[in-house]
Amino acid sequence: MAKADIGLIGLAVMGENLVLNMESKGFTVAVYNRTVEKVDKFVNGRGADKNFIGCHSIEDFVASLERPRKVMMLVKAGAAVDALMEQLMPHLEEGDILIDGGNTHFPDTIRRAELAESKGLLYIGTGVSGGEEGALLGPSIMPGGSPAAWEHVKPIFQKISAHTEAGEPCCDWVGDGGAGHFVKMVHNGIEYGDMQMICETYQMMKEGVGLSNEEMHEVFAEWNESELDSYLIEITRDILGYRTEDGEATIDVILDTAGQKGTGKWTAVSALDLGQPLTLIGEAVFARCLSALKDERVEASKVLSGPGTKFDGDKAALVADLKQALYASKIVSYAQGYQLMREAAKEYGWKLNNGGIALMWRGGCIIRSVFLGKIKEAFDNDPDLVNLLLDPFFKDAVENAQAAWRRVICKSVELGIPMPAITAALAYFDGYRSARLPANLLQAQRDYFGAHTYERVDKPRGEFFHTNWTGRG
Ligand code: NAP
Repeated sequence: MAKADIGLIGLAVMGENLVLNMESKGFTVAVYNRTVEKVDKFVNGRGADKNFIGCHSIEDFVASLERPRKVMMLVKAGAAVDALMEQLMPHLEEGDILIDGGNTHFPDTIRRAELAESKGLLYIGTGVSGGEEGALLGPSIMPGGSPAAWEHVKPIFQKISAHTEAGEPCCDWVGDGGAGHFVKMVHNGIEYGDMQMICETYQMMKEGVGLSNEEMHEVFAEWNESELDSYLIEITRDILGYRTEDGEATIDVILDTAGQKGTGKWTAVSALDLGQPLTLIGEAVFARCLSALKDERVEASKVLSGPGTKFDGDKAALVADLKQALYASKIVSYAQGYQLMREAAKEYGWKLNNGGIALMWRGGCIIRSVFLGKIKEAFDNDPDLVNLLLDPFFKDAVENAQAAWRRVICKSVELGIPMPAITAALAYFDGYRSARLPANLLQAQRDYFGAHTYERVDKPRGEFFHTNWTGRG
């Protein structure tokens, strides 16, 4: 019997759809699942009459693969991957490739890649974004790990990934060790930020401007035809137009408590670890946390009052300003995300291709947007760009949006409507463009109470001074 080009373990939502995608592109795929009945169910169901080799044991599975074996694990992230690796490794041979396609935290990937390599194997930790539909029709794929593995999986991954309108695959090698999963983590963090900013504009349109769901549906439809053209704006448009069987607006019956699986938190924690101001994503994570305090908020709403101000201005003008505020804040969010990746690359010794990352996110994934094409151009023009805000296109875009952005935030403060992510974005912008911040005072305070010393504006950096602030010995 012909051997399989690649094998996949984990026939849950993602696994099933990804192997169907692989098979549809001409690859023979061996499949295995811990609960073996699912293998039979799949090969006799969605996988019937297709080039799948259903396996009932790890041994059969490994034996069915062409060498070097490419074994993709798409199982629950965490201990399941370690358990599976333990079972697989004794059956694999030098040069075989283990691939983890789950939402794994990057330090785990660094550790597992070292373990696999110590046994003569190659390892890939890859982000796969786009959910169920992406897996089936073409996801964004962000692989990293053992560089020698790339040439073996590249033809498969680049064929099954999403492609841009120009036909470029939304998949390229990201870097060594945990680089692929790190970039996927930042992708998820950016997704948190994009979603939160859209929610803030929704709340302002609904509670501030007083637009109906139908009117907001129209606004998002219009925005989706502009520079904001993106998957998340598109689904927001659709959500606002959706009605239950009883004719009620579905959005109005959904409870306002956000869930989260932790990848946004990982991104924010990583930013804190690396000392990077990833403020917008941080606010987006905290906004979900605040939303989850539903019962407390309901009680507090009976006690605490806001300004009680009603909006009586030009509705169309505020909606137009909101679009600008959203666009400028989005630029800041990506600038912060790239800043984090730059620092991570320094810390972990990765050589990240910034333009390539934008291209990988251009299609197939949740944050796909026209905007990412502009980011790719920015890094093509200057691969060493320090901050996206300094690229001429984005600098002009933010400058053009600036007045509207400030008006929106003033209005949100005046009306008492929270816009934490959009406000954090402007604060970052104002901080980043300041040659001098009040950290001189902060350093003085630290020196006053803890003799932590400070540097002086009129002396070389690295020379430290202390003042005896109290005159006491
Ligand atoms: P999932 O619910 O995360 O995991 C279920 C799969 O893991 C099943 O095949 C299960 O096998 C297997 N599994 C669990 N513990 C195991 C163990 N100890 N040993 C071996 N297998 C074990 O599945 P999913 O939603 O398809 O996601 C797969 C991965 O992709 C996850 O890392 C997830 O975070 C990531 N991901 C998911 C999405 C999405 O939209 N769902 C999007 C992007 C990334 P049994 O059938 O035997 O229980």
